[in-house]
Amino acid sequence: MTEVAKTHAGDERPLAELRGIRKSFGTLEVLKGIDFDIPAGRVTALIGPSGSGKTTVLRSLNALDLPDAGTVRIDETTVDFATLRRGRHGHAVGDSSRQVARLRSHSGMVFQQHNLFGHRTVLENITEGPVLVQGIGRSEAEATGRDLLAKVGLADQADKYPHQLSGGQQQRVGIARALALRPSLLLFDEPTSALDPELVGEVLGVMRQLADEGRTMLVVTHEMLFARDVADQVLFMDGGVVVESGRPADVIDHPQQARTQTFLRRVLDPLHG
Ligand code: ADP
Ligand code: MG
Repeated sequence: MTEVAKTHAGDERPLAELRGIRKSFGTLEVLKGIDFDIPAGRVTALIGPSGSGKTTVLRSLNALDLPDAGTVRIDETTVDFATLRRGRHGHAVGDSSRQVARLRSHSGMVFQQHNLFGHRTVLENITEGPVLVQGIGRSEAEATGRDLLAKVGLADQADKYPHQLSGGQQQRVGIARALALRPSLLLFDEPTSALDPELVGEVLGVMRQLADEGRTMLVVTHEMLFARDVADQVLFMDGGVVVESGRPADVIDHPQQARTQTFLRRVLDPLHG
């Protein structure tokens, strides 16, 4: 990607926007007003210490958690969480629940642990969503599923069960499963942090390939080399706020805020942090 393309990225309307996102669990305020844009066709890396709220941001975008306040827009769907109609257990009800479902349909999530169904084959894991959620015919879903498996380098693993695969292969199935729903935004929650070190590269390789195709991605990661190399924008979170954001060369190599500097020292040099 050229510097010129990056410079002009800000001219386009972002694919997604978060404004004033707040979320508490009981008395613990986990997100304290999160605002950022996700530019279309770019990779945004979200970094920060454990417990800073990164997963909750992803879950808010995917409407797995419903924020208490703030708005999320993805594509043409906007949800204002302050005015959402909620039932007794906090779930959205009526029109609000359809709105939340629409928001969820725009993004696909890849989790830290693969979350595959253990009693289903690799191909069945991938076709389940399209068939059951999107009502796509089984043969079409299977054809697409096989294409996606080929894309992540697993064309010959379609009929295996998850436990027969390595951790890196399982994560690549997780990526294929997310892609099968044709999301406009891909969310990755530390997709390599549970892997043995020698398996990390194959997963990052697939992610790099998706980035090169111009997919819009929000990636929570501790892989600073990947963030520096592949991301167009880096956000550093701490204590439920975005402390610093900008181009990777600025945020990672020349962090301005003390909290960012401390975090990066620890991550980049664990022995001396
Ligand atoms: P990160 O992904 O940056 O490690 P999280 O978003 O997972 O941070 O968590 C932020 C804080 O919210 C942590 O203190 C965590 O314990 C808390 N938290 C997350 N989910 C829940 C939940 N469902 N119930 C209660 N506390 C939660
Ligand atoms: Mg997390």
